[in-house]
Amino acid sequence: MTRSLVIGAGLGGIATALRLRAMGDEVEVIERLASPGGRAQVFEKNGFKHDAGPTVITAPFLFDELFTLFGEKRQDYLDFKPLDLWYRFYFDATGDTFDYAASIEKTKQEISRFNPKDADGYDRLLKTSKAIFDVGFTKLADKPFTKFSAMLAQIPSLLTLKSYLSVAQLVNQHIKHPQIRQAFSIHPLLVGGNPFDTTSIYALIHYLEREWGVHFCMGGTGKLISELEALMIRQGITIRYNTDIEQILVKNKQATGVRTTNGDVISANRVVCNADSPAVYDELLSDQPKRLKKAIPDKLTRYSMGLYVLFFGTQKKYDSVAHHTIWMGKRYRALLADIFNSKILADDFSLYLHRPTATDPSFAPDGCDSFYVLCPVPNLQGNVNWDVQGPALQERIITALNRTIMPGLRETITDPFWMSPRDFKSNYRAKHGAGFSIAPIFAQSAWFRYHNQDPHINNLFLTGAGTHPGAGMPGVLSSAKVVENLIAQTSFKKAN
Ligand SMILES: Cc1cc2nc3c(=O)[nH]c(=O)nc-3n(C[C@H](O)[C@H](O)[C@H](O)COP(=O)(O)OP(=O)(O)OC[C@H]3O[C@@H](n4cnc5c(N)ncnc54)[C@H](O)[C@@H]3O)c2cc1C
Repeated sequence: MTRSLVIGAGLGGIATALRLRAMGDEVEVIERLASPGGRAQVFEKNGFKHDAGPTVITAPFLFDELFTLFGEKRQDYLDFKPLDLWYRFYFDATGDTFDYAASIEKTKQEISRFNPKDADGYDRLLKTSKAIFDVGFTKLADKPFTKFSAMLAQIPSLLTLKSYLSVAQLVNQHIKHPQIRQAFSIHPLLVGGNPFDTTSIYALIHYLEREWGVHFCMGGTGKLISELEALMIRQGITIRYNTDIEQILVKNKQATGVRTTNGDVISANRVVCNADSPAVYDELLSDQPKRLKKAIPDKLTRYSMGLYVLFFGTQKKYDSVAHHTIWMGKRYRALLADIFNSKILADDFSLYLHRPTATDPSFAPDGCDSFYVLCPVPNLQGNVNWDVQGPALQERIITALNRTIMPGLRETITDPFWMSPRDFKSNYRAKHGAGFSIAPIFAQSAWFRYHNQDPHINNLFLTGAGTHPGAGMPGVLSSAKVVENLIAQTSFKKAN
């Protein structure tokens, strides 16, 4: 029986472990933290529960498949609740709100309040997004891009779909009102990209949302992770927590196992890395001669932004605050340039505010709410002193929310704490503390992204945000399918 080791119990690692187990491998998952989920950790403080990472489920079928692999049904364990109101945008410049909803009609009525002509523009944007989705997601998201010929074969359709445009340029072709332009171009930020630099392939996320809806897992993403952990255990996958891998061991261009930071050696016939891809090459393969590495030089790599995440409870309920709010600051393009290009922490910000208690009261004691605020910030390639700026940013965010959509917050806030890009580096070993691994620019997509199979060490596979197709739950769950396909192809070739 093939013995496979998976380094990292993020969603990409969990999904790959399950797929390899279903293929008949003996599978062991090794995770440096004390619990599974990677960025999808759960924090609890004085009765307030917080999902630390992903909250929005957009492709539920990818989770369903993991249960179906073993003849089980996801619905027997997990309740994905479709939301009617997907995101409420609040624009600080004008105090306006814009509701982006499951109903296309309601969304178009909302758009019309800003600019009636943009309602038709939205239809065109959706049509364009569907055309991109049909290629970028349906045809390519779970297909290997380990050969350049695979990339070349896609060039004609990428040109037809105008992939050379950025998401912002594409949206601006259809939408004229500046605030609606902002609302419909933020999607790359959900996978770590600047909308003004990210290839318009990522405009497929619009249609992805429309195809399956926007869901919340009752009990939170933490519940989702614990049910996936239970599924792994039921299927005989071994999971070792609190174990940090220092090196992948390679002999004669074959991965033979791993060495932990304690010096223990664990052997394997196949190694799958869910650790951050650039860190895999720079750290876990640092013993290997250069020719065995397909590392993209760090200098040439563009990383996603960092994230500052502020968690808190409130002693009262804010029923007017939606489950998902995007709080847009006064600057847009210039703020993004500060974060992504100049890598400075500006005085202003835009925020994503999560209020799970809008859908699931189990996140807070009775009469209270639980929140997290996500603020895009420079990754650690910038020079921000988080000891000083962390508490200061907390204060500025509370002031802004207190002044706008959460009056009285200052008196009612309880148990605040935050994490910065420094924690992403120390907790998850994320290179430069980036929130979503390498950025989703064209020059780092598909064949140009970290390959799902190492080009030299052919029993070494990569899964997760740094690999094809990219970050976000649909992306990393699809990367597990790519690894499965690659292994199936290799086994087929051997058998014939
Ligand atoms: C705040 C936030 C909000 C988000 N919101 C959404 C959302 O709403 N919807 C959505 O679809 N996506 C969202 N995302 C993105 C999504 O969460 C991530 O892209 C995805 O979870 C990353 O999964 P991954 O498989 O790459 O692994 P990761 O989550 O990065 O996990 C990798 C694991 O490997 C472990 N590891 C690393 N190195 C080693 C080592 N040497 N030895 C052992 N273990 C190691 C780490 O500890 C970690 O557990 C969000 C992300 C963040 C941070």
